[in-house]
Amino acid sequence: MNVDLITAFRNLVGDAGIITNTTDTAPYLTDWRGNYTGAARAIVRPGSTDEVAAVVKLCSETKTAIVPQGGNTGLVGGGIPDPSGNAIILSLRRMNQIREIDLTNSAITVDAGCILQNIQEAAAEHGQLFPLSMASEGSCTIGGNLSTNAGGTAVLRYGNTRDLILGIEAVMPDGRIWHGLKALRKDNTGYDLKHLLMGAEGTLGIITGAVLKLYPAPQRTCTAMVALRNAGDSVTLLKAIRDALGDRLVGFELMSRVCIDGVVKHFSATIEPFTARYDWQVLIELTDTIKNSPLEEALSAALEPAFANGEALDAVIATSEAQSKAMWSIREQIPEAEKLNGKSVKHDISLPISRIGQFIDIARPKLMAAFPSAKVICFGHIGDGNLHYNLSFPGTAPTPEQTKEANKIVYDLLDDMHGSISAEHGLGQMKREEIKQHKGIVEMDMMRAIKRALDPAGIMNPGKVV
Ligand SMILES: Cc1cc2nc3c(=O)[nH]c(=O)nc-3n(C[C@H](O)[C@H](O)[C@H](O)COP(=O)(O)OP(=O)(O)OC[C@H]3O[C@@H](n4cnc5c(N)ncnc54)[C@H](O)[C@@H]3O)c2cc1C
Repeated sequence: MNVDLITAFRNLVGDAGIITNTTDTAPYLTDWRGNYTGAARAIVRPGSTDEVAAVVKLCSETKTAIVPQGGNTGLVGGGIPDPSGNAIILSLRRMNQIREIDLTNSAITVDAGCILQNIQEAAAEHGQLFPLSMASEGSCTIGGNLSTNAGGTAVLRYGNTRDLILGIEAVMPDGRIWHGLKALRKDNTGYDLKHLLMGAEGTLGIITGAVLKLYPAPQRTCTAMVALRNAGDSVTLLKAIRDALGDRLVGFELMSRVCIDGVVKHFSATIEPFTARYDWQVLIELTDTIKNSPLEEALSAALEPAFANGEALDAVIATSEAQSKAMWSIREQIPEAEKLNGKSVKHDISLPISRIGQFIDIARPKLMAAFPSAKVICFGHIGDGNLHYNLSFPGTAPTPEQTKEANKIVYDLLDDMHGSISAEHGLGQMKREEIKQHKGIVEMDMMRAIKRALDPAGIMNPGKVV
């Protein structure tokens, strides 16, 4: 039966579209962090939307579970099957073409397996900006970005991935193709179904193509690193800079000394902007589409009150692209440095921006009281109220008991402050059980009802999200 099914898949996608040998399937079966390893009958790699539809139809008829996968950079185990070996991984990576660029409509139509960086580059070739950006952009795919409603470093100005989509093409769990590639900015014709698939993590259907928004490319960029007295001051500074510079503020990233030390330890080419060892720093990025926009002067003026009242301790404004890149690489290498340092307890959380300082002030002493030898690794997209608030245990991986206790401390506090246990990475398999404690029963019931309606046989990415 298993062999017959594999032959049937091979007949649909050809030899180039199926992988079954252990060496070649291995990279698809373990996640980026090495936290989840599963098994699969085969990795099926369709080359077109019609092939995806044919594969899904066969899965629907044979009740075969499907785990969609893009770049496999997800951080919650959403793209990894369970260990039973009953599912197939449906990889979109062969579907990687830019289909169309419509400059007048500021839109780009792409295959779901396009690597994010390739979309950014295709837009740039036409003097446009596709603003979604994150450290994994060289490997993650737009289908994965849409399915996780990814955030990244420019949400403050351009929104999450769901804010960047105009139209969608998807294969639904019964194998039918939804031709929704409309490039419309207004379309009030009932439920906006494309948003059901944003952040659904492959549990409702397979995204095969998308129409995305393009923006005018910035003509001026100003990057700066500012050292702060404490983490809470970042929130005050954020407000001041936003008030002064409005939409020119694109990125506002917080990082603690522990994070920077980790990057310096693992990446010898790191150039620190300051000689002093400040506990907290923010990376600020401003852009403007006006060529001679005086961003540096405006930023200096906006920083003055923070220096006067002691919140800002030091600042460096990049004077070259190389210096700007050096600042960004510190921020972007934090996850990799953290991974090289060993396993930690991860929290990808969000709060109302106004409560971030209070959260850090309360969470840290509570965690330190419970785990005196642990280190808090705190960084994140502070402009979006999103913190990566992780806990590492020197020389050892956290035990399940330590993980449970740390989660309880952090998540209880989040509930008190009306935050979320997943800001941008999703639920996957990591938080599927946990979320039941934090969403109301009505919300969970609505999610389950949608899942049942669209995927009654439960073949789409079982064991994830709901
Ligand atoms: C170094 C590093 C930095 C990161 N930084 C950020 C960040 O700043 N912000 C952020 O939000 N995330 C970040 N991530 C997480 C990750 O890159 C994102 O979640 C990304 O959107 C995943 O894309 P992917 O193509 O790798 O998806 P995968 O990992 O392959 O899949 C992710 C989920 O989407 C589903 N899926 C994938 N493709 C499809 C499809 N075509 N149709 C339906 N379902 C699909 C999968 O089943 C899975 O549930 C980072 C990861 C790394 C390793």
